[in-house]
Amino acid sequence: MNKKCTTIRKNLVAYLDRQLSERKKQALQEHLDCCKECRAELNELRASQATMLLWQDITPSEHYDRIFEQKLAMLKQDLAAAKEKSHLLTIVRHCFNTRFALATSAVLAVCIVMLSIVAFKQYRKPSQHELGISRDIELYRNMEVIQYSEALEHFDMIQVLDVLGQETTG
Ligand SMILES: [Zn+2]
Repeated sequence: MNKKCTTIRKNLVAYLDRQLSERKKQALQEHLDCCKECRAELNELRASQATMLLWQDITPSEHYDRIFEQKLAMLKQDLAAAKEKSHLLTIVRHCFNTRFALATSAVLAVCIVMLSIVAFKQYRKPSQHELGISRDIELYRNMEVIQYSEALEHFDMIQVLDVLGQETTG
């Protein structure tokens, strides 16, 4: 960029704002006619100025403030929730840290024992009536054995008597 271009570009904003003297303006326009780069620079400046003007023209809606605040509050809530979530995860991670692993295991063990107790208590004790029936069944079984063995004893006796009878008759 030559020295002339540097001077021209310094004046471009003033030119757009129509604050240049007639003499300077003329010199600038003459330069622009023959310098492609400075023309491009002027166009860029014009575009950005137009954007600025457009932005200034945007007037917020009536409830803009309220909507903005609502959105901001929602954003803050989301952020807080995310933070809380990560906080919980940190606690869980802490619980299984080497430092707290023993305590965590102990707590878990106590929980398991308590659950087992509850589960065991739910197992119903047999009623007195049911116990009586089972005792009767056992007794009946024993009776059979007793009867059977008694019969065997009698059988033996009969055989002995038979032998004795044969001996006495023979
Ligand atoms: Zn130039």
